[in-house]
Amino acid sequence: MTPRQTIDLKSLIRTIPDHPKRGILFRDITTLLIDPRGLRAAIDGLVLPFLKTPIDLVAGIEARGFILGGAVAHELNKGFVPVRKKGKLPHKTIGQEYQLEYGVDAVEIHADAIASGQRVLMVDDLIATGGTAEAACELVRRSGGELVAAAFIIDLPDLGGAERLRRRGIKVHSLVAFEGH
Ligand code: AMP
Repeated sequence: MTPRQTIDLKSLIRTIPDHPKRGILFRDITTLLIDPRGLRAAIDGLVLPFLKTPIDLVAGIEARGFILGGAVAHELNKGFVPVRKKGKLPHKTIGQEYQLEYGVDAVEIHADAIASGQRVLMVDDLIATGGTAEAACELVRRSGGELVAAAFIIDLPDLGGAERLRRRGIKVHSLVAFEGH
């Protein structure tokens, strides 16, 4: 597969100031998803570095990681593992807490979703502080899986999340970066 066209992905991402709270610049990918060439270019961009990499499963983080991760799994011809917010999955789960600005949250996967030794590609739309992705990656490791990389459309490098994952030995792939928060 080769990327079908050169698209300025950044220009398709809408920025909404002060959402969900004051001071946050919310990077809204719905404007990219709605554009067929933009969506195709984003999925191609996420998939391309991994076409020759052995991968068993793609994991996506709720909720936008489901849209992107599902498409990436389809392109790579692999299965998909949803990483969900606490309390949503119906069967036996393992969970991992992570720190929010105020308080903690947790992500979960089914305890039997990833078999020991399976190679997993983690996908989400955006990495900011890296807390969510780090917790999701930890679930892969606790399942005995091997993390191939974590792939995002957007990196906010000033928040240090990608660096945080790299320090933990996780490869990070992202398509565009925005300065600031
Ligand atoms: P973090 O755990 O800080 O890396 O935050 C990553 C998660 O929060 C991802 O699932 C993003 O979808 C969401 N998120 C964090 N910051 C933003 C932002 N500025 N715009 C859009 N989504 C964000």
